[in-house]
Amino acid sequence: MRIIRTIAEMRAAVREARRADRSIGLVPTMGAFHEGHLSLMRQARAASDLVVVSLFVNPTQFGQNEDLSSYPRDEARDAALAADEGVDILFAPDAAEIYPDGFATSIHVSGITDVLCGAQRGPHHFDGVATVVTKLFGIVAPDAAYFGQKDAQQIAVVRRVVADLNLDVRIEACPIVREADGLAMSSRNVYLSAQAREQATALNRALDAAAAVRESGERDGERMLDAARSVLAEADITPEYLELRDASTLNTVTRVDSDALLAVAARVGAARLIDNHILKGQL
Ligand code: AMP
Repeated sequence: MRIIRTIAEMRAAVREARRADRSIGLVPTMGAFHEGHLSLMRQARAASDLVVVSLFVNPTQFGQNEDLSSYPRDEARDAALAADEGVDILFAPDAAEIYPDGFATSIHVSGITDVLCGAQRGPHHFDGVATVVTKLFGIVAPDAAYFGQKDAQQIAVVRRVVADLNLDVRIEACPIVREADGLAMSSRNVYLSAQAREQATALNRALDAAAAVRESGERDGERMLDAARSVLAEADITPEYLELRDASTLNTVTRVDSDALLAVAARVGAARLIDNHILKGQL
């Protein structure tokens, strides 16, 4: 596996792959790899000739009071894990390579970024995500890019950018990978104390409780939300949001007549965690 730090070198590798008619799969990440990241790499490996994983802790998507400086970083470990998955290139530029002096462009997606994590974290967050992902698409020119369903709003935002800017890349959404007790894997889980780690399992249990209400035949979203709210309350968790929305428009859904996104975010101990389930329109 090659580690590439400059855009010029990355472009040269892409040109070489294109000349040989090789397909390119991109997995954008911020590192601190866990099984969730590795599952995206495996899906990219299975479907592409050249697999590129980007490792870039993107400063523009963090707020003033967020965890940019403490975000877990261990490039050597990440590189070894990516190499084990058969990744061809780890693209790990520094911040000045991506945002040189004079950088002045930002991509803003309206509407769908005003809700859920966009409302909680502020507009800079998804502006930062949309801008860096678009730059990565410009640098790597992938046939397909792999994202985790765990960040469901991120996928909706990236799909919107790709459609609106006519970018020639297929977006693949990959299932959420969980710990044995159901907690969605996250690089931020390392912030959890033993007690908070236990408490955090309530997020997935709350989503499961809502799904069970849906599976009993109920369509009224409020009933599902109530079931989830009571699990969170029992675990002493006050969510930042717990909402039922259309998975692509992110409009509020009150009746589950077609597949709907049930999404939750909460502070648990020192971590801000998110999770979601798709509630089925058809049982
Ligand atoms: P991050 O490094 O946190 O920016 O995540 C990089 C990619 O991995 C994103 O597309 C995430 O949605 C995805 N990802 C993170 N956690 C998981 C998980 N538990 N299961 C599946 N994908 C994940």
